[in-house]
Amino acid sequence: MKRPMNKNTRNGRNALNKQMDKKNFKIRRKRVCRFCTSNDIYIDFKNEKRLVRFLTEQGKIIPRRTSGNCAKHQRQLALAIKRARHLALIPYVADIAR
Ligand SMILES: [Zn+2]
Repeated sequence: MKRPMNKNTRNGRNALNKQMDKKNFKIRRKRVCRFCTSNDIYIDFKNEKRLVRFLTEQGKIIPRRTSGNCAKHQRQLALAIKRARHLALIPYVADIAR
């Protein structure tokens, strides 16, 4: 009886510790805007391969809190994505999962 209980508590602790580590890692990790770090990258609506990175599978624009872009570049990106959508380079909607 004692052994399995001990095991359970150990496993529980380990799982908790892992979760804590993940949380701390997420909190501490500082995301830097990709476009700010390298000045030569220009956000172009004609370059759909670069824009696709900032879209979800459904075709939504990934929010700034997730992508780590700064406000300035997120605005430019959103505009570029919208232009690319208008030119049918990028879908407005894709892979509707229900
Ligand atoms: Zn930036």
